Amino acid sequence: MARVLSGTRPTGKLHLGNLFGALENFKKLEGEEAFFMIADWHALTTEYESPVSIRANVIEVAIDYLASGLDPKKCTIFVQSEVPEHAEMALLLGMITPLGWLERNPTYKEQLREITGKDLYTHGFLGYPVLQAADILLYKAEKVPVGEDQLAHLELTREIARRFNHLFKAVFPEPEAILTQAPKLPGIDGRKMSKSYGNTIELSDSPESVDKKVAEMVTDPARKRREDKGHPEVCPVYFYHNLLKNPNVDKVAHECRNALRGCVECKQEMGGYLKAFMKPIYEKRKDWEKRKDEVKKILEEGSQRARQIAQQTMREAKQAAGIL
Ligand code: SF4
Repeated sequence: MARVLSGTRPTGKLHLGNLFGALENFKKLEGEEAFFMIADWHALTTEYESPVSIRANVIEVAIDYLASGLDPKKCTIFVQSEVPEHAEMALLLGMITPLGWLERNPTYKEQLREITGKDLYTHGFLGYPVLQAADILLYKAEKVPVGEDQLAHLELTREIARRFNHLFKAVFPEPEAILTQAPKLPGIDGRKMSKSYGNTIELSDSPESVDKKVAEMVTDPARKRREDKGHPEVCPVYFYHNLLKNPNVDKVAHECRNALRGCVECKQEMGGYLKAFMKPIYEKRKDWEKRKDEVKKILEEGSQRARQIAQQTMREAKQAAGIL
């Protein structure tokens, strides 16, 4: 059984895109010693101008995870800031991380370009891979589930571990990547589903809200009138027919290509499958919402469990660096 760490930034409620990514993770982590971290320090790297929502979002993300099937008896769900060693380890690792490693980080450059309207020229934002390395190395995690686009980050963690081990003493194992291939879900405007685009369908959306969002979804832009023949392969609605395994998916494609169905009815059919898929999660979510004290207790117990391991590693690392 390998120790595995996975994290989510509590910058909002989880949406369908997160869910498919997370479900993919859950499948891969079955049978491992899994730690799920709600990374509130990381949320602050981009949300420092509106931090009031972070605490509330921690609870919402925990509810989303519990509703989507995480079992706290089989894994540890915890809050990053409840384990102060994350900040302490980040400070220690920051001492040995060359600035050039952080400045050449491709995600850093990409996010500086793409996230507009926020001043991200901060120490915290440049240094978030160091905090990420601290998150992983504190638990001596052997495996970390990542998408292809995050491989460079994990490599940075491995480099920092190597440098620490070389400078001081071999304390940290180098974590391996578990590659996850979560499908990239289109949002209601056809771009990748993302909180920053405001195009999400959230796990907490009511069936009425799902209906409304599906009705707003963009379709094949070539189908201006019902008589126009369509191209299902470019249509986000068709993507969901496929994803949700509508048994009539071939019929949908055929009728679309030959202008035998209208987009309104097509969306209604897909919306039915989507609501059926989301219903059990939505109902479990409603149930957990009534038991927020229990959710807080799960987080407290998880954070205590995580802290025991983190304290031990922190002691070893400080001894190795000669400050204890
Ligand atoms: S008929 Fe369906 S698949 Fe075709 S463009 Fe309209 S919504 Fe998309």
